[in-house]
Amino acid sequence: MTKLSNAEIVVIGGGAIGCGVAYALAKAGKRDILLIERAPDVGQATTAQGAGLCGQVRDSAERIKLAMHSVSVFRELQKSSVKPDWNEVGSLRIALSKKRAAEFQNLKLAADEAGLEASLIDPGEAKRRWPLMQFDEAKAIIWCPSDGWMTPRSVAKSYAHACGEMGVRIATSTMVEDIVRKNGRVAGIRTNQGSVECQFVINAAGAHAYHVAKLAGLELPIVPVRHEYYITVPMENLAPNLPCFRIPEMTLYGRVRDGGLLLGGWEPAAMNLDPRTYSLNGDPEPVQTDWPILNSFEESFSRLFPTAKNSEKGFIGKGWPTFTPDGRFIIGESARVKGFVMAGGCNAHGISGSGGIGKLLVESMLEPRPSAYVKSLSPDRFTESSWSWDDARRQAAHVYETYYGV
Ligand SMILES: Cc1cc2nc3c(=O)[nH]c(=O)nc-3n(C[C@H](O)[C@H](O)[C@H](O)COP(=O)(O)OP(=O)(O)OC[C@H]3O[C@@H](n4cnc5c(N)ncnc54)[C@H](O)[C@@H]3O)c2cc1C
Repeated sequence: MTKLSNAEIVVIGGGAIGCGVAYALAKAGKRDILLIERAPDVGQATTAQGAGLCGQVRDSAERIKLAMHSVSVFRELQKSSVKPDWNEVGSLRIALSKKRAAEFQNLKLAADEAGLEASLIDPGEAKRRWPLMQFDEAKAIIWCPSDGWMTPRSVAKSYAHACGEMGVRIATSTMVEDIVRKNGRVAGIRTNQGSVECQFVINAAGAHAYHVAKLAGLELPIVPVRHEYYITVPMENLAPNLPCFRIPEMTLYGRVRDGGLLLGGWEPAAMNLDPRTYSLNGDPEPVQTDWPILNSFEESFSRLFPTAKNSEKGFIGKGWPTFTPDGRFIIGESARVKGFVMAGGCNAHGISGSGGIGKLLVESMLEPRPSAYVKSLSPDRFTESSWSWDDARRQAAHVYETYYGV
């Protein structure tokens, strides 16, 4: 186990985001970093449950560029000895209504503005890319060749390995219990293995980010929302290089995993938690598999892929990714507690977003004049008087339920 020692920067949490920001900071020249993870290894909490899709087609050039940066990081890590298992298989985004087809035109414009290769293709071409799927109902289809998928736990491990090579220290089986402040700024942390002095603490504690912020004296609306998908046992003709897909009208996404079909979706009535109901030392309640919801995913998707009907399920992915009331990441230092930096509010795309989040965090910490976009992600947009838990939970649930909203 890494012995604890003082560091300029402490990162709390060894999920995709914590490992990704440590990697980005080390690449930017910051090497006196200590990453602390309470589990015996990195990538074991929400990250381990991720479906691993990475989609870059989003509704603004800024969000697309963030995702594009992640892809460039995954490509780079894929060249190292500990790989994220990045598979650049492309993706199909399928519109089933005219209204959605009109939205796709706007997505294409945003992609063009960001410099992302994405094209509107006809059903015939889509069929060549995913032969077993039926595209008769499709009103528009976007093909993005540089989208793909990775193995989430491998992403965290790959970052951690690269971090280690750059001198970042990683202390696992170590639990941060308090944040020490002096004269209004962060001065250190206390853990179950001893104390550490530091100048910056980065909160990448996932479903515990609310509790860690509270240790620094900040109340932030970070709301865990249930999310789940299933993977079938291997099926015939599901090649690993078939593109990922998203069908917004069905609120579904999927890909091939281990020869089976991975199918996930956004539920119509999002189950969410008040993080104050569990403690820093505890965990959110375990997610119980919701078969009616998973069966509804299967029922919908069977219209396009009849083989999915009554398929045998092998694995259920489920967890509590965190959502924010405005559906945006929380990144950067708080002016209210100097030295306390947020890297959270993943809104269920923290693995695919990890590379971009790292870039924005570096900009927020090291650039004398960060962009307006980076500033807009600051934790200080949520002051204690500007929100209530009832509203935060309702809005976070709405963000989840309208994830593919037009
Ligand atoms: C079913 C499902 C499917 C998903 N699919 C995708 C997908 O396809 N693509 C995508 O990009 N995202 C997906 N996500 C979301 C993704 O999993 C999350 O956005 C991402 O894992 C969040 O990473 P994180 O590092 O913030 O959190 P975590 O992985 O939870 O990491 C936080 C870490 O902090 C540690 N920690 C907490 N408190 C302390 C403490 N006091 N001291 C020390 N360590 C502490 C925890 O042990 C944990 O390891 C999915 C999520 C789920 C549940």
